[in-house]
Amino acid sequence: MAEAAGDAGRDVLIIEDNRQNLELVQFLLEEAGHRVRSAGDARGARAELERQVPDLVLMDMQLPGTDGLELVAELRGDRRFRHLPIVALTAHALRGDRERFLAGGCDGYIAKPIDVATFALQVEALMPPARPVAGAGPAPVIE
Ligand code: MN
Repeated sequence: MAEAAGDAGRDVLIIEDNRQNLELVQFLLEEAGHRVRSAGDARGARAELERQVPDLVLMDMQLPGTDGLELVAELRGDRRFRHLPIVALTAHALRGDRERFLAGGCDGYIAKPIDVATFALQVEALMPPARPVAGAGPAPVIE
């Protein structure tokens, strides 16, 4: 089967300690043509980020040990990750949570349980524009 998204696939890092949630999110994003790496806690996330900076991070905000908001604050304090898109993934459905996570440095928010039919589209809508592909032709002239 051909990859639906082809060259449009992006690198996503999922930070999620719940195995079932991780597998579902990973499956949905890979099926949409994206490349997925994962970590189960803040420590694993730091290691993955040192290895390669993804196009977007999907972060469960309820992590063991270092809490999601603490990790976001830590990443925002590191110039390499200051502008890294981070999307909060959380079971919290309390009023004000969305605002709390956005104020805490997240770029977007997706509530669990996720909608499997639209999840990949929701994530893609939060992706930064893809960098131009090298050798794809001259850059357009903007006048
Ligand atoms: Mn969790």
